[in-house]
Amino acid sequence: MEAQIFHHALKINQETCYGCTHCMNVCPTEAIRVKEGKAFIYEHKCIDCGMCLKACPVDAIQIEQDDFNSIFNYKHRVALYPSVLTGQFPSKYYASQIASVLLDLGFTHAFEVEHGSDFLKNEIPKYQLESDYKPVISSFCPAIIRLIQVRFPSLAPNVMQLKPPVDIAAEFYRKLLNDKGLKDEDIGIFYITPCAAKIAAIKSPVGESYATINGVINMDFIYNRIFRALKQGMTGTSKLPDQPTLSPDAIKWSLTNGEAVHSKGRSIAIDGVHNAMDFLEQLEDEEISNIDFIEIRACDESCAGGILNTNNRFLTVERLKIRADRYASDSEKASKSNPVFEKEEYLKENSRIGAVKPRSMLKMDEDMARALLKMEKTRKLMCFLPGIDCGACGAPNCQALAEDIVQHKAALSDCVFMQAHMQTHGKMSKDRAYKQIERILGEKRLEKNCKKRGAKDDSNF
Ligand code: SF4
Ligand code: SF4
Repeated sequence: MEAQIFHHALKINQETCYGCTHCMNVCPTEAIRVKEGKAFIYEHKCIDCGMCLKACPVDAIQIEQDDFNSIFNYKHRVALYPSVLTGQFPSKYYASQIASVLLDLGFTHAFEVEHGSDFLKNEIPKYQLESDYKPVISSFCPAIIRLIQVRFPSLAPNVMQLKPPVDIAAEFYRKLLNDKGLKDEDIGIFYITPCAAKIAAIKSPVGESYATINGVINMDFIYNRIFRALKQGMTGTSKLPDQPTLSPDAIKWSLTNGEAVHSKGRSIAIDGVHNAMDFLEQLEDEEISNIDFIEIRACDESCAGGILNTNNRFLTVERLKIRADRYASDSEKASKSNPVFEKEEYLKENSRIGAVKPRSMLKMDEDMARALLKMEKTRKLMCFLPGIDCGACGAPNCQALAEDIVQHKAALSDCVFMQAHMQTHGKMSKDRAYKQIERILGEKRLEKNCKKRGAKDDSNF
């Protein structure tokens, strides 16, 4: 199988991390371990969903982004922004004002990503008709594509080979500027992202070339800049762009069921990474059938719940629905006047991605015989481990510890219950057991320390 390099947007700051295991316990792919009191990520398992970032009580997990000033490396600077950015702001601010401030901040063009979805609304049913695989799984959410690659490889062929709206919008805008005579090297297209998975996907694309997008700016960063500018009255400047109106369907595309509703036949829309895992497990086991199209998004409430959003996800959903309703009477007009249709033929030729390939078909080893042997060893080890899944060993559960032991990344004595058992049977000294705990949870972890969250002792005890 062809080796792929997976870029990851999340990094753990080892200085700040204190090994509390919160991130490890929420990671859907069991990608996190704790050793010597610090968390680290098994990169081959990480899908950049951002659940760990939300769970960290001390902000030790950070998301990289391109330096904002890198936009000025280009003469023509395009901000591609998702409709959830406008949904971050109270309804008194209009989408055109937000676009205007993006220009004030230094972009020369601003374009809403969801313009690309009106094009997809026509293309998805056609794709479904020609696809050999059922159900067709949406390619919208990059965290879900990675999840399928890592955990559900047999479903990889079901992933729709059509680009998501952001890439359709980028293809369109670059073509638009090229056709106006602007040179490719002078055009910088920057995506304002609500999630980490999109950063990772843009830096190491799956099944496609992202050469159309030059950089990524995190939404929380730009939100603060825009909000400050709006408060200082920077709106309504002469640079206010003549923004094409998004159609109501496009405004709602990144919300749950925004895409599935336009597919053919029976469709299901799922949000939340754990819901997605449950569903995909049942689909893989063929417990679910007769579905034509599945929209799956890793975040609760889809992009409205992206980890880089600043505002409450439910309010964001409400605002986008209000915005869509405001344009409802002009719905057809807005769809028809969408500028992406000026380049429809070009987009049809450039809207496909290659097949999504599994990261590995085998969980424990690339070699089938060795993988089977390792699985057998894991099952044997599970006969000894207590099955309590406490996480004190630095792995998220007993099964993960057993797999780590088989892969020579951990020892049976990492389990605190096994340590007690070994001590009782004279196979481990108290000193060694204590050191083993420190090796996992960090030195002096079991000594009194009132700096821990929730700890306080005013007595001299
Ligand atoms: S981003 Fe998601 S998959 Fe990656 S380590 Fe964090 S919780 Fe796990
Ligand atoms: S949640 Fe806890 S273990 Fe994970 S990075 Fe934050 S401090 Fe470290």
